[in-house]
Amino acid sequence: MAVVIRGRDGKLYPAQQRSDAELDRIVTLTHQARCGLGLSVRATVDRLAKYGIRRSVGAVARDLKLYRCARCKDRAL
Ligand SMILES: [Zn+2]
Repeated sequence: MAVVIRGRDGKLYPAQQRSDAELDRIVTLTHQARCGLGLSVRATVDRLAKYGIRRSVGAVARDLKLYRCARCKDRAL
């Protein structure tokens, strides 16, 4: 049975525990899309979905803020 949880954005998401490795991958893909390809946050969310990753706009924005990649580490917040 699939368990769903309500995210902070009010939408329902499949409940899942993400491992550190998976979070790592998500953050890497997020920065690749946003910093590497220059996509908007929303387009980044759509791109992650293509990899089978359900991430809210808020979560993506947080990943971009909390983690820095080689491309954005020197950029001002
Ligand atoms: Zn970045």
